[in-house]
Amino acid sequence: MKSPVSDYLREVLDDLADDADGAVADYIPELMNADPDVFGIALTTVDGRTHSVGNDEVEFSIQSISKPFAYAAALTDRGFDSVADAVGVEPSGEAFNELSLEGDSRRPKNAMINAGAITTHSLLGSDTEQRVERALAFFSTLAGRRLVVSESVCRSELDTADRNLAIAHMLRNYGILEEEAHAVVEGYTKQCSVNVTARDLSVMGATLANAGVHPVSKERVLSRAVARQTLSVMASSGMYDAAGHWLTAVGIPAKSGVSGGLLGALPGQAGVGVFSPRLDSHGNSVRGVKVFERLSDDMGLHLMDVE
Ligand code: GLN
Repeated sequence: MKSPVSDYLREVLDDLADDADGAVADYIPELMNADPDVFGIALTTVDGRTHSVGNDEVEFSIQSISKPFAYAAALTDRGFDSVADAVGVEPSGEAFNELSLEGDSRRPKNAMINAGAITTHSLLGSDTEQRVERALAFFSTLAGRRLVVSESVCRSELDTADRNLAIAHMLRNYGILEEEAHAVVEGYTKQCSVNVTARDLSVMGATLANAGVHPVSKERVLSRAVARQTLSVMASSGMYDAAGHWLTAVGIPAKSGVSGGLLGALPGQAGVGVFSPRLDSHGNSVRGVKVFERLSDDMGLHLMDVE
């Protein structure tokens, strides 16, 4: 849609297009095949209008941006108390793939790091197929189109999944995971390998921003309480060990992924999706972070700003 908003997004995209800082993730070999220059930005308002520029329709694997949505699905299916028994809500201040648990409870600290996300994935059904289908169906409803798993990304990650397997074994050791570790990591990896575009991310984010009502179909897909809980955990833990800096500098609940996607959801206003594969040392998209810094400054979107 051509509009003052898309003109503005085009200006932001053009200003940042030459920024080649950072590097494409390489610990999942297939991600190294991404074109590092691809750059797309999309914004969906809570009344359902999407504005987008650049490579807004290029597909990439959702990776860790699946985590808030899997958490929201688990809260919906299992209820707050049983999810809270399995995973906490404290920021970890650690890297996304840290092998760590909360001191007394032995729960993963939150659902945005791998330990917590592997746990929430395990709550989505009783076998791998059911869990993957629950995630895929839910992500598709949010995106407004049927999404598919990238088999090549999934295979590539599973071939090199020792770290996540170690996390799953640690979780089993403490009784947090009951399922067999390989089966859960396989399902979690499929969940992370679902292909999306920057436009999909903005529509998915807009449902969270719109208190759980899909901005286009107007269907309630999440309860108000689940949307609030998910946004809160994104605000405190969505950007890994850069979460505190993000909240102070940008002030928009967000989630990043290692393929270079970045999703933000500004309560009551809009969802924003950015795709740019080069990452900083925290694993966040370099140009994605800069887009959000610009939007937050130019449009006064910081949650803590008072008019
Ligand atoms: N699938 C990736 C992993 O588990 C997701 C990580 C990420 O996007 N930060 O390592």
